[in-house]
Amino acid sequence: MEKEWFGIPREEINWFPTINYEKCIGCMACVKKCTHGVYSEEKGKPKVVAPKNCVVGCTGCESVCPKEAISHQPKEYLQKLAKRKDFQTGCTCGGECK
Ligand code: SF4
Ligand code: SF4
Repeated sequence: MEKEWFGIPREEINWFPTINYEKCIGCMACVKKCTHGVYSEEKGKPKVVAPKNCVVGCTGCESVCPKEAISHQPKEYLQKLAKRKDFQTGCTCGGECK
């Protein structure tokens, strides 16, 4: 799990996939796509078992789902986070790399 996302503690960020089981056909494309251990398979369907392992901003599994059964928070959620005072953009070397 990432400890931080641009300076914001990962624990405070609600970014993870949500599965609509009414649409899901159990193809497991999402489980195969994710390399971060977010999913496991349970009774032929994907299950989100480690939501905080999800890479903030990633929507890889959502993109490969053939049934549009996966969703994440809207982009506005991340834009809002980027306005927090503790959000740090870019390099944090203090100018040494210029
Ligand atoms: S969004 Fe990316 S990191 Fe998160 S569960 Fe899907 S593939 Fe894995
Ligand atoms: S990719 Fe979509 S349809 Fe396939 S198992 Fe995952 S959520 Fe279900």
